[in-house]
Amino acid sequence: RIAYVNGRYIAHRHATVHIEDRGYQFADGVYEVCEIARGFIVDMKGHLDRLDRSLSELSIGWPMHRSALMVVMREVIRRNHVRDGIVYLQVTRGVAPRDHPFPVGVTPSLVVTAKKFDAAKVHQKAEAGVQIITVPENRWDRVDIKSVGLLPNVLAKQKAREAGAQEAWFVDPDGTVKEGASTNAWIVTQDGALVTRPADHGILRGITRTTLFKVAESLGLRIEERPFTVEEALAAREAFLSSATTLATPIIAIDGHPVANGHPGSVTLSLRQAFFDIAEKSPA
Ligand code: PLP
Repeated sequence: RIAYVNGRYIAHRHATVHIEDRGYQFADGVYEVCEIARGFIVDMKGHLDRLDRSLSELSIGWPMHRSALMVVMREVIRRNHVRDGIVYLQVTRGVAPRDHPFPVGVTPSLVVTAKKFDAAKVHQKAEAGVQIITVPENRWDRVDIKSVGLLPNVLAKQKAREAGAQEAWFVDPDGTVKEGASTNAWIVTQDGALVTRPADHGILRGITRTTLFKVAESLGLRIEERPFTVEEALAAREAFLSSATTLATPIIAIDGHPVANGHPGSVTLSLRQAFFDIAEKSPA
């Protein structure tokens, strides 16, 4: 495998960053993950627009011009022979002697990697549905920024794994669901409407979430952008999660309780089916 690190394409196993990179020392950086499907980068524009927003919220500059970054992404994908998989981008504030305030005159660090996966296997597994757990929301109030500071998410995912589940939903004290550790959260009501929490500062505005709004429209499904509770999810027709890598994936159980009959929902599977046709696709 080949990675791009600060101007160089280098063997993945030899790719390193400086010990005083602020991403390493302060989690002072942001990232993006784009899906690559059938030789296309899915929703590249949406992901780069969100990268731009994350960077500007943290006053980190672009590491290179946007069009140059697109060239690097495609080059990393090409060198790794990825037709189905992901491309990962990480930008940190850069390398400077350890001191909390922003250093002056540093260049942001850029890492780009790509990884292939077996699309048939991934889809088959996702379509079988996943189990999730719930955990109390304990993150900061700027999770709308896609920062590499993911410790609460790591701990929540580990707790899920130890419970034999694949994802954890962060739940507010009022019982409403925020989102998963790496996915947005949805339910399908008994009368067939899609419900997902408004993308204010309390969740990450998923690029997949935005595309799913268009997919839902193409399928004639109604969307209600509002908070919902765990109880509502358990009584719903379906529940599902979304992200660039999971697309729309059915949730079959929450904290060990089945959602509906405990089988993947048909609305979720039809959203998943139609996703690629509706999403924006750039040749990789
Ligand atoms: N919420 C969180 C906390 C995430 O980390 C992610 C993606 O990694 C998402 C939601 C889904 O976002 P996207 O659809 O852009 O992948």
